[in-house]
Amino acid sequence: MIDYDKLAKYSAPVPRYTSYPTAPEFQESWTADNLRTAITRSNESGRDLSIYAHLPFCRSACYFCGCNAIYTNREELKDRYIDYLAREIEIACKTLDRERKVTQIHFGGGTPTFFNAAQLEKIIGLIRSAFPNIAKEVEFSVEIDPRFFTEEQMDVFAENKVNRVSIGVQDFNPKVQKAVHRIQPFSIAQNAVARARAYGTKSVNIDLIYGLPHQNAVGFKETLKMTLDLAPDRVALFSYAHVPWLKKTMRKLDETALPSAVEKLKMMRLAIETFSEAGLEMIGMDHFAKPSDELNIALKEGKLRRNFQGYATRGQCDLVGFGVTSISEGEDFYSQNFRDLGDYEKAIDSALPPILRGIGLNDDDRLRKRVIFSLMGSFALDFAAIEKEFDVNFESYFASDIAALAPLEADGLVSIANRRVEVSKTGRLLIRNIAMNFDKYLKKTGSLERRFSKSV
Ligand code: SF4
Repeated sequence: MIDYDKLAKYSAPVPRYTSYPTAPEFQESWTADNLRTAITRSNESGRDLSIYAHLPFCRSACYFCGCNAIYTNREELKDRYIDYLAREIEIACKTLDRERKVTQIHFGGGTPTFFNAAQLEKIIGLIRSAFPNIAKEVEFSVEIDPRFFTEEQMDVFAENKVNRVSIGVQDFNPKVQKAVHRIQPFSIAQNAVARARAYGTKSVNIDLIYGLPHQNAVGFKETLKMTLDLAPDRVALFSYAHVPWLKKTMRKLDETALPSAVEKLKMMRLAIETFSEAGLEMIGMDHFAKPSDELNIALKEGKLRRNFQGYATRGQCDLVGFGVTSISEGEDFYSQNFRDLGDYEKAIDSALPPILRGIGLNDDDRLRKRVIFSLMGSFALDFAAIEKEFDVNFESYFASDIAALAPLEADGLVSIANRRVEVSKTGRLLIRNIAMNFDKYLKKTGSLERRFSKSV
């Protein structure tokens, strides 16, 4: 039995740890020169590349959305954006070794499928011609809005070996859909899944969100059941992050209809039980996958890594982001592009990488990143494994961090024994709260309000 009231006390603003240090620590003093030096160093490592293209346009706002999206009907904006993407790639390739092997490509947004088939083909062509060494077994994934997803687009994806699609659903309940301004009957998702399957797409993911207005455990049960009717290979179940001070459209949501922390925990628990009964195992803090899925295999082989797209199976890659707001990541840096389209275009017009901010990682950052991502990825922390990679004695380096876990151990969220931290099944619901104990920057910055969303 879970004491939800006891767990609800952990509901506090906490980072989602898609990076460490987290994005608020990125500095605008990070320049094109810093990036060039970091990329040159990463070229020497010869690590594989993971390419991300951010395609930011949407027809209208879904009020829960935290993405960097531009709402428009203007077709010409998309063609213009593709031209700028081409120029950004050209600028990047002056430093980036184009011969490095590409093992992952991901299109996110915005709504990638808001670009028409010809435009998508053009974007894929840009990447293929800039990076000739694309692995045969490349993992190519695209986020799909099922309301904008045609046969022609799927044709382009199939021809270009897109093997993973992620279909945005969030919730099937009409009342919830109306409240969040995203009306999308079940049949639309069903057709999108059928279309992807008909072309032999290897993996279909469904995105859900819990914590939206009018959601509760009773209604969410039906959404979970309908999701399973689609027979997904993976499900991503995100906790709604209510940050109206950062995202204006979230102010349109009825805050009085948002579920309580206890109700959110119940929905999460229900999802874990429902999916595990259906053979989808929990991977990391918000993903579920079939045992045969690469995510699951990567978890078992200790290769699962956290990144800006959630979890990656090929975590040893350097991430190269193109487009507004996208983030690049190497072993010792993060670099983020401008969020504003005008600023992005202006930099490219000046033949500069369109960088807004970034950070170089010191030794402590790299060590803590490894520790936090180990917890987020495998729900465990093996002191000896960390010591093998870093020249530290774990217990003395992290003495205060381990001591800070004591109350969480008393609440049954973790156990610490035999030089390991193990996260319990209940602790998985609060993995961000556990990981934050190893975050050095949080200790310095004090108040977390208005910087991060609540963990529950
Ligand atoms: S959820 Fe997707 S379609 Fe909706 S606003 Fe966000 S990016 Fe656009």
